[in-house]
Formats: sequence, structure tokens, C-alpha cells
Amino acid sequence: MELLKKRIEEEGKVINDQVLKVDSFLNHQVDPLFMMEIGEAFRERFRQDGITKIVTLESSGIAPSVTAGLAMGVKVLFARKRKSLTLKEGLVSSKVYSFTKQEWSEISLSSEYLTSDDRVLIIDDFLANGQAAQGLIDMVKQTGATVGGIGIVIEKGFQTGGDTLREQGIKVESLARIQSLQDGRVTFFEEEEV
Ligand code: 5GP
Repeated sequence: MELLKKRIEEEGKVINDQVLKVDSFLNHQVDPLFMMEIGEAFRERFRQDGITKIVTLESSGIAPSVTAGLAMGVKVLFARKRKSLTLKEGLVSSKVYSFTKQEWSEISLSSEYLTSDDRVLIIDDFLANGQAAQGLIDMVKQTGATVGGIGIVIEKGFQTGGDTLREQGIKVESLARIQSLQDGRVTFFEEEEV
């Protein structure tokens, strides 16, 4: 997605050769109009996949998931990172290692909102080593629903997550794929626009 690459080039801050900060439109401040374009881009990429629900992880996955849900006409379920007093019944959980926090945590969602008829699109802001995505896949499967695909806003293609997921036969679509963050510069893979 050319517009996304442009925003990353103009506003992204390379923290080190592993981590990119995009707080101005995705991870802290959210640009709603731009998020609408991101939602449309996900709809285009998954329009043939019979998606009935979107599942994401709080908090940065929520904005792109809601605009994708709006574009696709499906509801959005976000997994919680902390146990909540109001979220206790019928929980499915999975343990994930957080790339940015460098610690293990348990993520959960209520199985009430997914059925075996659901075909789920998993959306997240970043894909690094694929821990968050694997945890979400694990929970979706525990509810009996099917994973119809994974939509990522920014994939860091030099880390292992994307390859591992694709090797599992899962359709993974990333709106921007970064080849390298070396020398303080963002380099993208050259790919054809869908
Ligand atoms: P993974 O689980 O694939 O290793 O990492 C993905 C998760 O870690 C995403 O949910 C995202 O929140 C966070 N993350 C991974 N890499 C980055 C990064 O370079 N920048 C930011 N802002 N978040 C990242």
C-alpha cells in the first residue's frame, strides 16, 4: 500500500535495526481517515475469503480492525492482555511472548462471540516473530472457528513470523513489508500492489 509506505517513510522512527515506531498514526495517536483507507485495503485483500468476523489483540490492533470491520460489514473481537472482572466466563487463553515488552503474558477472549461457523480474519498492527498471531490462531481454533487469513499493517519481513505462518498454509497479507531497518533507514520489499 503506497500511502502506508509513504507515511512510514515520513513519520516512522527507526528505534534500532529491529524496532520501528509509528506513534503518529498507529500506535499512540490514531489517524482515523487514514485508518479508513487501511480498512478498505484489508477488504480488497480478503474479499474472496468468506470472512465472518475479525479477531485482534488490544490495543493497537483495534483501530485497523474496526475500520476493516466497517468496510467488510463484520464484527470485531479483541483479545485482552489482562484478566478483567467482567471477562471470566467461557474464556479461551493462550500464552504469548511480547516482542516489545520482552515478557510472557496470557491473552484471552470469550468463546461466546465465535462459533464453528465463523471464518476469522486475524488483524494486527505489526508482525515480527509471529507470537501474537500464533496466540490468536490458537484461541480461534479453541473456539471451533476457522482462521480465514491474517491481515497485518506492517510486517517486518526480516523476522521469522511471516514465513512461519505462510509455511503453515495460512494466507498472510501485509499492507507494507519491511526488508530492513538497518542504518536507521526503512527499506521495503518491492511488491506489486493488489
Ligand atoms: P510478534 O508477536 O509477531 O513477535 O510481534 C508483534 C507484536 O509486537 C505486535 O502486536 C506489536 O504490537 C509488537 N511489535 C513488534 N514489532 C514491533 C515494532 O517494530 N514496532 C512496534 N510499534 N510494535 C511492534
